Amino acid sequence: MNADASSCPFEAFLFAIYPFFLMQETNTEQAERKTPDERSKLTDLERLRHSCAHVMATAIARLWPDAQFSSGPAVENGFYYDVDLTHRITPEDFPAIEAEMKKEIKANHPFERLVVTREQAAKDAEAGRLGALSERPTPSRFKLGNLADIPEGEAITYFKSGDFIDLCAGPHVMRTGNIGAYRLTSVASAYYKGDERNPQLQRIYGTAFKNKTDLEAYFTMLEEAKRRDHRKIGAEMGLYVIDTEYVGPGLPLWLPKGAAIVEALEDLAKETEFEAGYLRVKTPHIAREKMYLTSGHIPLYLDSMFPPIELHENARDHLEPTSGAPAHAERYYLKAMNCPHHHRIFAAEPRSYRDLPLRLAEYGCCYRYEQSGELFGLMRVRSLNMNDSHIYCTPEQFAQEFNGVNEMYLKYFKIFGIDKYVMRFSTHDPAKLGQKFVDDPVLWKQTEDMVRRVLQESGINYIEVPNEAAFYGPKIDVQVWSVIGREFTLATNQVDFAVPRKFGLTYRGRDNTEKTPLCIHRAPLGTHERFIGFLIEHYAGNFPLWLAPEQVRVLTVGDEEPLLEHAKALVKELRAARVRAEGDYSSDKINGKIQRAEQAKVHTMLVIGQRDLQAGAVSVRVHGKGSLGAKPRTEVIAGILDSIRARSA
Ligand SMILES: [Zn+2]
Ligand SMILES: [Zn+2]
Repeated sequence: MNADASSCPFEAFLFAIYPFFLMQETNTEQAERKTPDERSKLTDLERLRHSCAHVMATAIARLWPDAQFSSGPAVENGFYYDVDLTHRITPEDFPAIEAEMKKEIKANHPFERLVVTREQAAKDAEAGRLGALSERPTPSRFKLGNLADIPEGEAITYFKSGDFIDLCAGPHVMRTGNIGAYRLTSVASAYYKGDERNPQLQRIYGTAFKNKTDLEAYFTMLEEAKRRDHRKIGAEMGLYVIDTEYVGPGLPLWLPKGAAIVEALEDLAKETEFEAGYLRVKTPHIAREKMYLTSGHIPLYLDSMFPPIELHENARDHLEPTSGAPAHAERYYLKAMNCPHHHRIFAAEPRSYRDLPLRLAEYGCCYRYEQSGELFGLMRVRSLNMNDSHIYCTPEQFAQEFNGVNEMYLKYFKIFGIDKYVMRFSTHDPAKLGQKFVDDPVLWKQTEDMVRRVLQESGINYIEVPNEAAFYGPKIDVQVWSVIGREFTLATNQVDFAVPRKFGLTYRGRDNTEKTPLCIHRAPLGTHERFIGFLIEHYAGNFPLWLAPEQVRVLTVGDEEPLLEHAKALVKELRAARVRAEGDYSSDKINGKIQRAEQAKVHTMLVIGQRDLQAGAVSVRVHGKGSLGAKPRTEVIAGILDSIRARSA
């Protein structure tokens, strides 16, 4: 997927970074050879992990000297090394490999860098010496292939640790002893260089950390993530289903309990946006081909769009002007983004500077054709309901508007108890104007300066990343950490100074000339699908009262008539106040009823027995917190309504 090609941050809505071994392995997935510039930017942890890949290869070479290694980069959450070996490595082999690794680390070998000529490297590879402990009867064939990939002019280097010599550009830690703690995690298969025509290799995954504490914390977090897996909890709580057979893969159906969460989030967005002066719009799910030709989605983003719908109606009314033959079928596409529709709303009326800023908002449903292998629960789907808005403004209004968007993020973080976040500010590279970035140096400088100033002045936690802006303007990816410390990319803010021009959007300025507005794309709550996927993990399904699918359940002690009548009246009163309340009036024992409600993660249980009835009280129980004792009925209801209104945790 090419994010630069689109007119909005397609790739970034709340993209969960999943541990690699919870994901389906893709045999053709291959880390690209890094440029010297990219290598210089590797973090300490990445250096450590890549160094650990060398140590793992050393251990494997000791156990199976015929092993042929290809490449062993650091990846998200760890490292791997691809190896060709007659022995099939399984997790049963891990203890033996780890024991050999321990010896290498204990020996505390330095990682020595040796610069060699291409001829020397070729000679050593022929002698089987690379990715090996000594010369061998068979050449280091994958290393020969890797050698050919090193561009002319780039230094050819070995890294030697103990007896192990590898063709590698680095960087590494100083010594093997710097690798604090490590563990092998899984085996998969991969094609050499990711190409299916090449031999299939074994890919051994592991991870490493500076110390044992960090390593343990990581595995504890993974265990917790497994326990909180949104697919598992989503099924247990009856939040959504994916009906592959009738509806299709990647097209979630929200069940009533999931839809309740969806609506609670939409209410939050609508209230917040209304207060901030946004205007709500509604747009269709499809549009003519012309729309996406203009926006540039076609052809650049075509691969990620559903194939067109061809309409033949009125074909005879639309004759080709020259030949008189029926015109071609009309092509419509499912929308992959809401922006073009909003641009056309901007264009629907003449605009003046007095109309700006114009903030158009919509929970718009978009469709993206994700590869079936990429689909993953709610995290990677083909239909997405997006907390979208486009703010059209003048350059003078930009800073204030952008700041307003950031404040909205901070408000949401507080509501959801997101304590750790960072805003990743991606800027352009002046050397790549006209290729990777729109060729407008003045606007780049202007908008980037404005964004930087807003970020600095607001004291928001941010980092600046050069060369990663979108094609048409700087962007900010918002990364957040769930309560268990897992990182998610939560939506994106983007400044767009190119697409409004493509659509010919203008406003009449104070000086009476036509000007092009700036456009801010923003979606703080991402898409319902990914955001709720995140929230399920974040809360482990134990939603706060305002979000809980079933907020209150009234439980009767017994099923006598006056009691039932009273309980039903209580449910009715709560529902009249728009509280999602249900009643359990069965003759089951009260403990059984409580257990059932706890299992269903009902937030608040109101227990009514004969004694409560006489006292005008109810006994309150909160999911996971136990009994809070009996309280007057009116006080309880007021408390529930207050908590929902305040969206308190
Ligand atoms: Zn290396
Ligand atoms: Zn947009």
